[in-house]
Amino acid sequence: MSNEKLQVIPLGGLGEFGMNCLALRFGDDIVVIDAGLMFPEEELLGVDIVVPDITYLIENRSKVRGIVLTHGHEDHIGGLPWILSELNVPVYGTEFTLAYVEGKLDEHRLLDDAELIEILPGRRFNLGIFSIMPIRVTHSLVDCVALAIHTPVGIVLHTGDFKIDLSSPDGHPFDLQAFADLGKQGVLLLLQDSTNVDRPGFTPGEKAVIPRLDDIFAQTRKKLFFSCFSSSIHRMKIALDLAHKHGRKVAIIGRSIDNASEIAQDLGYIDPPAGLIIHPNQIKDTPASKLLILISGTQGEPMSALSRAAVNNHKFAKIDPGDTVLLSSRVIPGNEKAIYRVIDHLERRDAKVIHDDGTHGLIHVSGHGSQEELRMMISLVRPKFFVPVHGDYRHLKRHVELAQATGIPEKVMLLEDGDVLSLDRETAQKTGKVATGRVCIDNNSTADVVEDTVIRDRKHLGEDGLFLPIIAINRATGKVEGLPEITTRGFAADDPELMRNARDIVARTLNESSDEERRDYGVMKDKIRGDLKRFLQKNANRRPLIMPIILEL
Ligand SMILES: [Zn+2]
Ligand SMILES: [Zn+2]
Repeated sequence: MSNEKLQVIPLGGLGEFGMNCLALRFGDDIVVIDAGLMFPEEELLGVDIVVPDITYLIENRSKVRGIVLTHGHEDHIGGLPWILSELNVPVYGTEFTLAYVEGKLDEHRLLDDAELIEILPGRRFNLGIFSIMPIRVTHSLVDCVALAIHTPVGIVLHTGDFKIDLSSPDGHPFDLQAFADLGKQGVLLLLQDSTNVDRPGFTPGEKAVIPRLDDIFAQTRKKLFFSCFSSSIHRMKIALDLAHKHGRKVAIIGRSIDNASEIAQDLGYIDPPAGLIIHPNQIKDTPASKLLILISGTQGEPMSALSRAAVNNHKFAKIDPGDTVLLSSRVIPGNEKAIYRVIDHLERRDAKVIHDDGTHGLIHVSGHGSQEELRMMISLVRPKFFVPVHGDYRHLKRHVELAQATGIPEKVMLLEDGDVLSLDRETAQKTGKVATGRVCIDNNSTADVVEDTVIRDRKHLGEDGLFLPIIAINRATGKVEGLPEITTRGFAADDPELMRNARDIVARTLNESSDEERRDYGVMKDKIRGDLKRFLQKNANRRPLIMPIILEL
């Protein structure tokens, strides 16, 4: 045992944003930190989510003691359903994180077989040869932890996602003391979040948005629509508090934000006074000046409540001239087009749109620490070795430079997915590579059952073929010109009845949409794709890649 080394093996999240997953191995014991997903880039059109390839874990199945979660964001827990269905091991997380996980596993009918174990900040637990201390950190989500993993060769500290917020709205500040104590004990390796390594200074605390949001509440005369990430529990609490202060009732619209607010209420993170929250069907009976509508869809997701309200196609959320729509979030790179499309629709309805374009004051803050916080963590814990995690290659590179410049770690290393880092008390070296990769999953967001989920690797895609509906729309009138055409590759084009029915499905989807929706190609493509997917699954038992093409006339 004496010459045995600790291995640190990132399986996802080092070299891309998302699908965070990292294995620690000592002898016959493996623990996994986080099991995230990633939303695909444009190149992976037609795929809904991407999760890390866990071949390494499956090959070492008998050694995996459990998965420990740092917090409940999708890029840390979203891969669990796929990973657990191949490797059912115990999952450890804080109360709030596990509440999210439960919902997710329940949706995929995996909850009954799952072993979920709650952990508490400050309470150490054992997992195989490892002993793990969760430490309270602050982030845009609540109940987040860093993990100090005591191993036979020393302590490995994984920060998870964090910023240093000393006045967190939930009353649980960042635990500076615990990190300082670790520094005294001696940390062998620090694995630190790289997300904001490009930003100088400190990231503002979650409460920093209150003054500007308060102004906006005070200045708004009609309905106020407030959209934030559904997991921004702090932001939701702030919005509810301000609604109460300014005499507005709150309606919550959108599945993701509704779920999140329910969990947050159950666990006491938000505690609205009786009567503050109303049912969406009470909106029509409430004066516009007395309404706050929390609505999901800050990223312009085509089927979200805000996108639908923006094209006047939501049952409860009606946007009238003079209403204010506040997007308290950032633009995630890649979503610009979709977001600006929604903003255009909102402007067309004469709503006042306030988003984080730099001209509206502090209406959003990041959940990730900036350069000074990253330096502060390094100087608090004084690690012997340092490896940046969570980021594209360039972020990892900048973070390596930042860590080196502190002069504190003896050795700073850049690892990518699959690299094996071997450590003992004195040395750290890259010693090999394991198989890693991305697994693409097609999981239609509009479908409610798991049967509609398929793991789609490239081989599979070849088998199920390609289905291209081609629709000509007159941009000026929003009218469909002619009948939809369908081109297929590797798919039963020789079944004329199936093809005719598929064309009918597309025509029906088009007919049942409003002119404004028809002018919004993102919405139309999503609707057509969803309807065709269900049809083909049911009538042909096939799951081809469906890529609607809209020709503008
Ligand atoms: Zn996060
Ligand atoms: Zn993250």
